[in-house]
Amino acid sequence: MKLAVIEGDGIGREVIPEAVKVLDAFGLDIEKVPLELGYARWEKVGTAMSNKDLETIKGCDAVLFGAVTTVPEPNYKSLLLTIRKELDLYANIRPIKPLPGVVGITGKSDFDLIIVRENTEGLYSGIEGIGPEISWTKRIVTRRGSERIAEYACKLAKQRKNKLTIVHKSNVLKSDHLFLDVCRRTASDHGVEYGDMLVDSMAYSLMIHPEKYDVVVTTNLFGDILSDMCAALVRSLGLVPSANIGEKYAFFEPVHGSAPDIAGKGIANPFAAILCIKMLLEWMGEPHYLIIDEAIADVLQKKIVTPDLKGTARTIDVGNAVAEYVIKNI
Ligand code: NAD
Repeated sequence: MKLAVIEGDGIGREVIPEAVKVLDAFGLDIEKVPLELGYARWEKVGTAMSNKDLETIKGCDAVLFGAVTTVPEPNYKSLLLTIRKELDLYANIRPIKPLPGVVGITGKSDFDLIIVRENTEGLYSGIEGIGPEISWTKRIVTRRGSERIAEYACKLAKQRKNKLTIVHKSNVLKSDHLFLDVCRRTASDHGVEYGDMLVDSMAYSLMIHPEKYDVVVTTNLFGDILSDMCAALVRSLGLVPSANIGEKYAFFEPVHGSAPDIAGKGIANPFAAILCIKMLLEWMGEPHYLIIDEAIADVLQKKIVTPDLKGTARTIDVGNAVAEYVIKNI
């Protein structure tokens, strides 16, 4: 197994080493391939990622990624979108589940949902133009793209509560009619109980009644926004991991960005990055992946937490404590 490790910029460089420490605690035979990509690399050599980097990534089985700061160039093409497209990582999976004893802004903790986001098309098609008077981005929804994300979401729903919510904006966006139709039919074919919600009502409902939802399937931009919003449900952006899954490759990244406001202070919460390791291990079929949940619960109980969880621990203290638990209990 070959894993590309891309720390990226800002707090990516602080949380990914802690995640790798936890991965190493499992003692698995994984060859790590470090790559320096992102804004800092662009500042040094004028490019955030080269074709050679992309080939190196394609030579690996999976990627662990921190976060990158967006390059301030009008024609900059997001390296993250490029990797998702090149590796055909069509399903972006974002579990929204409270950690033991950690309550978010709504005070609720009785929910456990997963956002399944179409990851290669929608408003992130990359087909766009900029001009002084008019700028535009084309929103693409294809039958194939909708079918494969609907299939993925239904398979996941069947492993959980057999319940799917399709999120769209088909009252305004004609392109969402196809997405909605395909998702409804796929759910019906799989015998999955389903309903649908307009994305604006869904945002409200998620804040008030997150417990009503299990698997939520949606298009690219809506999934991106809803999952950041849901980070407030579990308290911090530093707690939400994600997996980008394709037929051949998988790519694991915390939902958060490079957080320039706290970068370099050693106080970023590494739990999201560490939970990415749990998702990676599950994807690899490693049977002990749930030890990470136990380790995080233990560390939370000992109050070894960063300031976003009202603690005084540093990023490295949290990583050390989780890794020690894994080493003792594996
Ligand atoms: P952000 O996610 O970096 O930060 C938003 C807020 O959440 C900040 O107050 C930050 O301190 C806090 N936060 C984020 N992660 C945290 C953690 N692990 N622990 C504690 N607090 C945490 O979003 P932003 O400020 O809008 O973006 C900063 C840069 O990151 C921008 O250049 C943006 O384009 C980029 N970005 C990259 C990715 C990615 O690479 N996947 C994702 C989102 C944003």
